[in-house]
Amino acid sequence: MKNFIYRQKLRKALIIFSFVLLPATFAYISCPIIIGGASEGIASGGLIVFVLIFISSLFLGRLWCGWLCPGGGLQEIYFQINNKQVKAGRLNWFKYLVFMAIILVPLISAIHSAGGIKSIDLFYGTEDGISIAKAGAYTIFFVQIAFFTIFALLAGKRGFCHYFCPIAVIMILGRKMRNMLAWPALHLSAEKDRCSDCMRCSKNCPMSLDVNIMVRQESMEDSECILCGCCVDVCPKRAIRYALVG
Ligand code: SF4
Ligand code: SF4
Repeated sequence: MKNFIYRQKLRKALIIFSFVLLPATFAYISCPIIIGGASEGIASGGLIVFVLIFISSLFLGRLWCGWLCPGGGLQEIYFQINNKQVKAGRLNWFKYLVFMAIILVPLISAIHSAGGIKSIDLFYGTEDGISIAKAGAYTIFFVQIAFFTIFALLAGKRGFCHYFCPIAVIMILGRKMRNMLAWPALHLSAEKDRCSDCMRCSKNCPMSLDVNIMVRQESMEDSECILCGCCVDVCPKRAIRYALVG
């Protein structure tokens, strides 16, 4: 159990560190900067990051959300202020509209109007790779922070991830593709006979999933699961574990 607690400490440290780096890195997850690059026929560093996140989701699901996302780091800091569970499924669909409106449609239209992607600029929208150093970048940075904050404080634990995050949709699409074709990938596996219904997994899930029911049904796949491993690590009966094959 001790090793498992260390794993969660490591995870928290990683996402909070990722948040601390956000002033330097936000251009790489900023939709307006990525669309701006595409409209000039440039594949920006952010666009490359989105592609890499999609590829990672084919094998690792939403591991990025649980272990590396700076927005996830900030929202988990806000657990100290509001750790209310987010109601399962309610308005989760809204992020798909956001994905269409601020990534898919503008990106296709930008690439089309630029006559295709003609070059790659990993540092596009930054000053020598530092996001906040670029003139005018403060606005985008503070808008990002405001969105993470408003959703996390008003909606509850990781409210932004549930209701608004268009990057989550990229990973959900990758995961659904993987599930259709069923190649080996990281996932959770459960043994319902070990479960004592203590509910620790459900109470500790940062995505407010009813993990106890998932264990009871031995059905651990959920598009909102970020593979953070909290349920794995808090279960006193070792009823849940990470598994690699499909
Ligand atoms: S089900 Fe487990 S791994 Fe998935 S988000 Fe909840 S606590 Fe994390
Ligand atoms: S933490 Fe483990 S024992 Fe407790 S309800 Fe969840 S799966 Fe069952």
